[in-house]
Amino acid sequence: MSVVGQEQGIDHGSMRGYRQHTYRQVPATEACGCLAAVREAQRTSKPVKERSQKQREWYGGKYVTAASGSQPGRRILPPGDCPTDGCGQEATGRSEPARGWVRIHVQGSTMPARLFCAGPCATVGIALAELRMATPTSS
Ligand SMILES: [Zn+2]
Ligand SMILES: [Zn+2]
Repeated sequence: MSVVGQEQGIDHGSMRGYRQHTYRQVPATEACGCLAAVREAQRTSKPVKERSQKQREWYGGKYVTAASGSQPGRRILPPGDCPTDGCGQEATGRSEPARGWVRIHVQGSTMPARLFCAGPCATVGIALAELRMATPTSS
């Protein structure tokens, strides 16, 4: 049985009540006290702390070289180390790469066409392909 649209049973004047309003799609009003409860909760809660914790996980994690002291920038990762899913994979078929992807194939290279995400990865991809130039056979 759905409670959507039912106001009866809402715990007015609290965040819980406000969530019930949202869930039940019953508008919260000043009269029932739920809007005031939300304001109070926003005032007393510390979303900044929560956000900085997430930022620490992001910046402090594997995405940044530790103790470099330099400006955080875009890290150049060797293909395979790129966190982007599918970066460096062999390009199958002749279809155009998706938006933001670069298809790298250097003529004469033994490396098959690969897909890299645009930017540093594609640059590294070209360099790799150039390193794997097929040596011309004299026979
Ligand atoms: Zn209410
Ligand atoms: Zn990449």
